[in-house]
Amino acid sequence: MYAARDISFFIGSKAILDSASVEVAPGKVVAIVGPNGAGKSTLLKVLAGEQRAGFAGSVMLDGTDLQSWDAVSLARKRAVLPQSVVVAFPFLSREIVALGLPQYFSRAEGGKLIARALKAVDLLHFSERVYETLSGGERQRVQLARVLVQLWANGGKGYLLLDEPTSALDLPHQLATLRIARQHADAGGGVLAILHDINLAAMAADEIVAMRDGRVIASGPPVEVVTDGLIQALYGVAARVRGVPDGPFLLPQTVIS
Ligand code: ADP
Ligand code: MG
Repeated sequence: MYAARDISFFIGSKAILDSASVEVAPGKVVAIVGPNGAGKSTLLKVLAGEQRAGFAGSVMLDGTDLQSWDAVSLARKRAVLPQSVVVAFPFLSREIVALGLPQYFSRAEGGKLIARALKAVDLLHFSERVYETLSGGERQRVQLARVLVQLWANGGKGYLLLDEPTSALDLPHQLATLRIARQHADAGGGVLAILHDINLAAMAADEIVAMRDGRVIASGPPVEVVTDGLIQALYGVAARVRGVPDGPFLLPQTVIS
């Protein structure tokens, strides 16, 4: 279990997070949704251990406070896909993915995992390409391959923390990314993904955590959480949520002007 409890975080007098909680269990995909500036990325950074100080509340990973985890053990247990990644050198795609590998891995062993991950994100053919020459969506998929390799190299479970992993992707690759998330959960890992597309979140997640103004205003299964009231409360948009047997969905055409 990976849980952030009652996290509050201030910058100056502004509450970026206000007693926000989120938890991910093995086998589950959890989606965080909410408007720009809601505090989603900040909460993910606190959970990841990248924001180590300056917040109130606790983060527990497998029953131990995150403060007690050393960097190497933490890297074996959770992998983080940030919202944006700046790469300053002309690395090849496969070299970016290799950053996810532990140092003790042999070349051959590592090479196999890298190829498997690049194949999973549909980019094996670009393994020798200079990363900066890839499109935004292709770069995003290379980064996903990097975090997959990080967990696969350590037993294949652990937690994926993904900050808008589909933001630059075309529809088939959005679906493929969420399929990878589900496969990871089915293999015994846990996934926390920040998503902007309510429909994708409703389709792909076991649980949706809705954030606004640093607070979690709703959380639970999509069918319970995704309602007209939630869309209004989150975004100030009056829309009609419809349902299909598999869950709720929202069409732009149902926005009430
Ligand atoms: P989200 O990911 O939900 O869009 P973030 O967690 O990135 O939101 O940011 C939440 C709020 O905190 C935003 O209003 C952002 O401008 C602000 N913020 C984040 N980091 C800083 C910082 N270092 N200095 C000032 N404001 C910040
Ligand atoms: Mg963000």
